[in-house]
Amino acid sequence: MSNILTGIPASAGIAIGKAFSLEAPDLSVEKKTDVDIDQEIDAFDKALETSKGELEKIKEKTKQDLGDEHAEIFSAHLLVLSDPEFVDTVRNKVKNENVNASFALKEISDQFVTMFESMDNEYMKERAADIRDVSTRVLAHVLGRPIPSLVEIDEEVVIVADDLTPSDTAQLNKQFVQGFVTNIGGRTSHSAIMARSMEIPAVVGTKSVTSDADKGVTVIVDGLEGSVIIDPSDEEIASYRAKQEKHEEQKREWAKLVHEPSKTKDGELVELVANIGTPNDLEGVKNNGAEGVGLYRTEFLYMGRDDFPTEDEQYEAYKKVIEEMDGKPVVIRTLDIGGDKELPYLDLPEEMNPFLGFRAIRLCLEKDDMFRTQLRALLRASSYGNLKIMFPMIATLDEFRQAKAILEEEKERLVADGVNVSDDIEVGIMVEIPSTAVMAKQFAKEVDFFSIGTNDLIQYTMAADRMNEQVSYLYQPYNPAILNLVKMVIDASHAEGKWTGMCGEMAGDEVAIPLLLGLGLDEFSMSATSVLPARSQIVNLTKEETKAVAEKALTLNTAEEVKQLVDETFLNN
Ligand code: PEP
Ligand code: MG
Repeated sequence: MSNILTGIPASAGIAIGKAFSLEAPDLSVEKKTDVDIDQEIDAFDKALETSKGELEKIKEKTKQDLGDEHAEIFSAHLLVLSDPEFVDTVRNKVKNENVNASFALKEISDQFVTMFESMDNEYMKERAADIRDVSTRVLAHVLGRPIPSLVEIDEEVVIVADDLTPSDTAQLNKQFVQGFVTNIGGRTSHSAIMARSMEIPAVVGTKSVTSDADKGVTVIVDGLEGSVIIDPSDEEIASYRAKQEKHEEQKREWAKLVHEPSKTKDGELVELVANIGTPNDLEGVKNNGAEGVGLYRTEFLYMGRDDFPTEDEQYEAYKKVIEEMDGKPVVIRTLDIGGDKELPYLDLPEEMNPFLGFRAIRLCLEKDDMFRTQLRALLRASSYGNLKIMFPMIATLDEFRQAKAILEEEKERLVADGVNVSDDIEVGIMVEIPSTAVMAKQFAKEVDFFSIGTNDLIQYTMAADRMNEQVSYLYQPYNPAILNLVKMVIDASHAEGKWTGMCGEMAGDEVAIPLLLGLGLDEFSMSATSVLPARSQIVNLTKEETKAVAEKALTLNTAEEVKQLVDETFLNN
């Protein structure tokens, strides 16, 4: 009998494959004495060899996918494995103390990690992380409980995990990974957002998939409805294959609009643009007919490596995106690290509430050098097209003024050095914090544009963690509180002759689209795969009708009432 789980639909589509668990194995070790020394040393040496082979493979794959710079971290790991100081010390401990290899390895690696961590030298501190990583890999092999690795997947699978980090998600190989299912997370957790841009069907927040889906069992992921069928019957597989085909057919229908304008029946033009995480996402942007990039999340450039990207590296990435968009608008957001996006080499203290903590612009204003490097890279790239710069997580006018002043200083410096910098760069902010939405009138006098980041704006307004499926019932894009904040921002920008976009996931939501259109939103930025469905919806609406419905929605009592109003008026539900 199949088992059906319900979760949150995170990325559209149907996937069928064998479960591949990413659960970390238990690597606890016990001390054993009076062991067979030769056998223990042999086990250790074999584990070293296997680990080397794996690391070589991962390094090669990373090099191909992400470039030399990202692959370097694995060279450092390989060095640890051939460092006699480390491996001989483990062997000697086994010999001299007559203990098991796993115990010796754990003790020695802990000693090395503590020693490196206490050094007053950044480079040495980073080596501690390398040793910890490598030792865990070797230990897993000594214990015969290998750590599952995404890079090594070579058959069609559905990934099953408690959660996927954004860097796990970046490693997913679309050739083999058909879909993924997690225990935790919400529609706006970054793994879900990345799944959409990679077009991998996903369901998150099922609470129990890791315990329900055994390795190798067939799993169906319905990323349209949010259900997961474990060990389906032949009839269920056939019925989902048919659903998959219907979805493909729908996509072919949408594709007919790829070169059409995003215009309502009564002639209102809006802009439908895409959110991207890396220059690799540009193909999806073009194939899906997006009219520009409304949000380039630059933090992915900083992730999955062990040091900051250089100014030149950043310049190349920004230039590539700006150039390839060929004069179409490209909104690049400055570093928004923090929350669920970690940067281990920044070495920040752990926080009780990372989403309310030292993140994004707060961190950039403090780490001035890092911020200036990014701004210079952006300014240098600006002459290749239509760049707009956007600061994330702005809570006060003062933060915006400080960030803008630093940008101006760097611009003056570059111009003085004879560097070509566009003199037409719009500078805007993300509206993600309720204080900023409430103060939109004041902000509108100083910024060139707003982009409403509803993923965060909703979590901060409703005090409901966007990652926590236990409170996902409070994560309500259609709540009149949210709609009223959105209206305040749009109206404030229009009163000053400025424009407002939205780059949170709400911008691509079928229920929200008519409301946002009616409220006067100018630019809708979404996962590239949502652009064509959104366009097919917009070309069948009139501005006049949506305006009346939006006005009514603002006065309703609950999110449910709003949804019902939109369903009845526009979605024939
Ligand atoms: C948002 O908060 O809506 C947003 C687009 O930013 P991110 O999802 O990267 O936090
Ligand atoms: Mg945000």
